[in-house]
Amino acid sequence: MVRIDIISVLPKLIESPFNASIIKRAIEKKIVEIHFHDLKDYANKRRKQVDDYQFGGGSGMVMMIEPIKKCIDNLKNQRDYKEVIYMTPDAEILNQKIANKLSIKGNLIILCGHYKGVDQRVRDNLVTMEISIGDYVLSGGELPAAVLCDSIIRLIPGVLGNETSALTDSFQDGILAPPVYTRPANFENINVPQILLSGDKAKIDKWREEKAIERTKKIRPNFFN
Ligand code: SAH
Repeated sequence: MVRIDIISVLPKLIESPFNASIIKRAIEKKIVEIHFHDLKDYANKRRKQVDDYQFGGGSGMVMMIEPIKKCIDNLKNQRDYKEVIYMTPDAEILNQKIANKLSIKGNLIILCGHYKGVDQRVRDNLVTMEISIGDYVLSGGELPAAVLCDSIIRLIPGVLGNETSALTDSFQDGILAPPVYTRPANFENINVPQILLSGDKAKIDKWREEKAIERTKKIRPNFFN
């Protein structure tokens, strides 16, 4: 079983995506285990402080190294972790390749930032990997952590009922997925492509491949570079 530990100042913010659909089922099937840790539980007992002003001045609070170190040490003392990942906008952007790699790694710790982010010494000394979910800034690392977990968990063998379904998703083989249709075949005179109703598997496969390539050329031409 893979274990993912998420460290945050607002763990409440991410609990709900893990309580539904595919991720919930993966947890119930005991394929993955997710634990949330409130950094405040590792703060200085008297002051409960997890952030402080920046050295050198400037607006915005910075998350302190001490509670983060305590929390990570506590986890590492109990079991082995393959990566300690910090969610941050100034990092390599998450893609399917990274998700694939992480899905077969083993236990992970994910650190969510808030405010101005974490003290640089956390990044230099405690974190083994940094991931962004895109070139925009969010208020906290909780939603990015949920995005990362979802992208990883659905790839862990046994999570998706039909093993082939992750393989036919976009990016998995370097192209976007073809369009999909369901009933009714005719909706207010908008029809499903006839070929999908033909029952000719070889033709349908060829059509799907053509459509996938066409779509990729149009939307993501850089995939062919
Ligand atoms: N001052 C930082 C931004 C901090 S945003 C900067 O300019 O780079 C606060 C926290 O939100 C970050 O510590 C990070 O954990 C999270 N976050 C914001 N945008 C993100 C993104 N695109 N990807 C991953 N995490 C992000």
